Amino acid sequence: MDGHTDLVVIGAGAAGIFAALAARGVLAPDGTFQPVAPGSETPSVLLLDGQERPGKKILISGGGRCNVTNVRTGVPDYMSGVPNAVRSILREFPPEAVKRFFASRDVPLAKEPMGKVFPHGEGRARDILRALLGAAEEAGVVFRFGHKVETVEPDGDGWRVDDVHARRVIVATGGLSIPSTGSTGFGYGVARAAGHELVPTIPALAPLTSGTTVGLAGMTLPAILSVVDATGREEARAAGSMLFTHRGVSGPVALDISGPYERAIAEGRDVRVLADFWTLCDRTGVYARYLEHTKPPGACLPKPPRPTPPAAFEKTILEMATRGPRRKLGSFLCMRLPRRLVAHLAPSADKILSQLSKEGRREAARAVTAFDLKINGTEGYGKAEVTAGGVSLTELQRRTMESRNAPGLHFCGEVCDVTGRLGGFNFQWAWASGYLAGKGAALAVAAPVADAPADAPTETPAETPADAAPAADDPSQ
Ligand SMILES: Cc1cc2nc3c(=O)[nH]c(=O)nc-3n(C[C@H](O)[C@H](O)[C@H](O)COP(=O)(O)OP(=O)(O)OC[C@H]3O[C@@H](n4cnc5c(N)ncnc54)[C@H](O)[C@@H]3O)c2cc1C
Repeated sequence: MDGHTDLVVIGAGAAGIFAALAARGVLAPDGTFQPVAPGSETPSVLLLDGQERPGKKILISGGGRCNVTNVRTGVPDYMSGVPNAVRSILREFPPEAVKRFFASRDVPLAKEPMGKVFPHGEGRARDILRALLGAAEEAGVVFRFGHKVETVEPDGDGWRVDDVHARRVIVATGGLSIPSTGSTGFGYGVARAAGHELVPTIPALAPLTSGTTVGLAGMTLPAILSVVDATGREEARAAGSMLFTHRGVSGPVALDISGPYERAIAEGRDVRVLADFWTLCDRTGVYARYLEHTKPPGACLPKPPRPTPPAAFEKTILEMATRGPRRKLGSFLCMRLPRRLVAHLAPSADKILSQLSKEGRREAARAVTAFDLKINGTEGYGKAEVTAGGVSLTELQRRTMESRNAPGLHFCGEVCDVTGRLGGFNFQWAWASGYLAGKGAALAVAAPVADAPADAPTETPAETPADAAPAADDPSQ
């Protein structure tokens, strides 16, 4: 491979393909695909991927159905150091635009419970990938698949990507999770070499491991999981369906809490994961409708409710004891919880409620509302759906995803320090950040070449036309 191109995009996953489409100018402001206008001066785009058949994460996503986006996408759905930047980037290509894009490529999308959006009817993840690659081909993007990039270096007025000289480079290489999909962490090395200080990476959306769940494997039920520190302060919370596995716990709620758990451990904090099994299982209460969504693949509640305080639960036991003097703890707990779980949680299940000691009530309350799952890790990058950490948004121009350290180098998708919870939020980040990176890089290519050397530090976000809009790109926001 030898030559010159205006733009090189490294990585043909969701973010990279979208960046290539945006750079070729085929994404209308409302998201619909529009063919390249004849005679228009759009930059040449080379899309590289190490895999012969890229887009593997798209194919395996959502159990093969691809949860493309979520109509309720908002900043609280993401872990990131710069929430305001996430907000402004997501606004540039919202879920409605994503839906219009795929509809314009003959893959209509449909909303499902919890705001999740999937291909309509019999549509599958492969239809999503086919639509993306078909659009890129029609847009005139040049593909080179099966080419694993090894070097990215500044080169005169641009960059050298192996043997290709490019005016600009978009790094969309994903993270470290599921290495068989092509994720090797290559983009982190490119960022480091360009002077970026990375947010340390951790596996996220990964099953949790524990030694205490033996005998419960296969059971699914809704739970509220909290990460609490040594003083009992809650650091993070998620609520949704949970699955006991042979190694620990999985299911949406376990995956959602795994990132905050891993982050706390990586930062040296002594944290535990506590489970409340009681609150959500109230078939007559406000969460009754939610119970319909606990079957695999399940889903998480957008606003996790507070766990029932153990003291309040102790009071409930006392109340129940007065109502039914012969009632046993086990039969009371089984009003909401599966018998097998009750047998595991409450050794005094055979005791009559009214005869429970204060300590017995406290033990039962802790077991069902603040059960220590004794989590000792996660299943790591081999099982994690995403990698959290990476290139900080503080070091990128938020209108163009361009590096503040190395002009001409753009980052988008999972390589950035933005991690969504389960439910279509990670692809939404990939589409929106890819769109901005592609559009920003193309506008910069179209602009006259600046006098400053390509690797000079940029203090002037307004140098490139895409950043010349009045609102300043303030990383401190
Ligand atoms: C099992 C699973 C299910 C998921 N389900 C969903 C879901 O339903 N909804 C959702 O929103 N998110 C889901 N995700 C997360 C989602 O897949 C990712 O957030 C998203 O794919 C990230 O896109 P990306 O383009 O940034 O990176 P990737 O999709 O990882 O693409 C990066 C590409 O870069 C290429 N590459 C890397 N290094 C090089 C190199 N040196 N040279 C050339 N090419 C290189 C790789 O081969 C790869 O093709 C799921 C993830 C997994 C693992």
